[in-house]
Formats: sequence, structure tokens, C-alpha cells
Amino acid sequence: MSTIRHVLIAGGTHGNELVGVHAIRKFQRNPELVRRSSFETTTILANPEAVAAGRRYVDQDLNRAFASGGEGTRELRRAQKLRAEYGAQGRAPADFIIDQHGTTSNAGLMLILDNLDPFTLALAAHLCRVQPAVKLYSSAASGRSHDSLRSLAPYRIGIEVGPVAHGTLHAELFQQDEALVYAILDYLEARNLGAAPAPKTTLTLYQYVGAADYPRDERGELRAMVHPALQFRDYEPLAPGDPMFLSFDGETLPYEGPSTVYPVFINEAAYYEKGVAMCLTERQQIEV
Ligand SMILES: [Zn+2]
Repeated sequence: MSTIRHVLIAGGTHGNELVGVHAIRKFQRNPELVRRSSFETTTILANPEAVAAGRRYVDQDLNRAFASGGEGTRELRRAQKLRAEYGAQGRAPADFIIDQHGTTSNAGLMLILDNLDPFTLALAAHLCRVQPAVKLYSSAASGRSHDSLRSLAPYRIGIEVGPVAHGTLHAELFQQDEALVYAILDYLEARNLGAAPAPKTTLTLYQYVGAADYPRDERGELRAMVHPALQFRDYEPLAPGDPMFLSFDGETLPYEGPSTVYPVFINEAAYYEKGVAMCLTERQQIEV
């Protein structure tokens, strides 16, 4: 990979995820915090109309709006505008995108890796050394590589922090998110200057293998909730037969998959409308 010349830091891709929104506002008040000598840094509120409305989106999820060329909604138009600015053929193409999110699930400090190329893995390894609480989630198998804001750049990372209610801030998570952004910028700077550390290590990766919806009746109404034994147990093993959902009558519904999985985004508020109760992952160790 060649030199990184332009880094785009986004927040407010989902307008009610306030950690990223206020991180961007802080960076815009204090641009020296994100300025580095070897590349340009741009900071944006990705969906300012949704931020102003205090909602995830106005017409549709911006972070699913980048695959279509359509302009039928506000978010599709915004996606086109962002592509014209920061996409590969844009006015100021971004080489690297950091996109900040928040989740009601117990994600802790999660890095979303869309690509598992050596550069991204070396960066992830560095961030795990700097902040051992970091968890690595690979969305490579989710089929989502082209519709997100991050997909505008060849290299990118998503930051998810949680649990934090949408529409609220969380001071500790804000500080951890902010520290991760600086650590990414510092790493990119060191790499551009030929000084990036790269000791060998083993990474634990939570690799997306599928999503699980809530049990629903024939009309699509929920029949059950996330089981109390699973709530906030992101990254922990869920074996066949383990409690997964609790019906409104108090009946425990077990996980019926063929093998142990490691759920993440458990009970994420914004995923109810997507028919996703949690994402299922496989836990992998990889040498980098
Ligand atoms: Zn989000």
C-alpha cells in the first residue's frame, strides 16, 4: 500500500450516535488534534440533517445508501455528494476513512474491519497493543462492502462504542473513541514516515457469519425478547441449546444452530427494523 495522503474522519453517519457527533465537533473546534504532518485530515458530520433531527436518518439509513446510484431520498443524495467529494473519482479522494458509531449493545470498544489485508491487520494489531480492550469484528463476509460510507475509501476502519443509548453521550466511551482516533492517526503518520511498529502477534477476530432475527409471528410481530442470560454478553460463546430468546409468556427459546457462535450487536436498538436481533460471529485467531 502506498502513502496515505488524505484521511477522512466521519461522525454522525447515524445522526443520533452522539459520541461520534461530538467527537467531530471537538475536532472541528480543535483541528490541531487531528492534524498530522504527512497527510491531510478532513472531518465531517456525514449526515448533518439527521444530526439536526436527532435521528439515525431522515429518509433511509445513510450507511446503506452508497451502493445505489439513485437520488430518490435525502440520504441517497447525500451519499452521491459524499462520493463526488471523497470517492475514488471524487474531488478530494480519501485514502483512509475512520467512521465513528455508537451502539446500544455491549460492544465495548469495537473496530470494524471491512478488509483483512496486511496493512489493515497491522493497524489493528497496533491498536490492540495500545488499547487491550479493543475487540476486532470482521464484516468481510457480511456482503456490506459497497453500501457503507467507509466503502468510499480503499482503506478504512469503523469504530463502534457501547453500550450507549442512541441520542445520549457517554463520557468514558467518548474518551476511548477519541483516543482510538488519535492512535489511528499516529499509526498512519508513523507508517507514512517509515516508522510504524510491526511486531508479530496473534489477533482474535470475530468474523461475521450471519444475523439472527427475533422470533416473529405470521404478521411479523415479535414473539420474544433477547434472553436475560444473553443480554450484554457480546463476544461470549453461544452454544447449541443455550438460552437465546425469552417469549412474552416466559418460555426460553434456545439457540438451535449447528455450532457455537459468538454473538455481537445483541439487542442493538437500530436493528429491530432491520430484522436483526444480533449478529453471529465465529471466533478466529490469526497470526500477523
Ligand atoms: Zn451507527
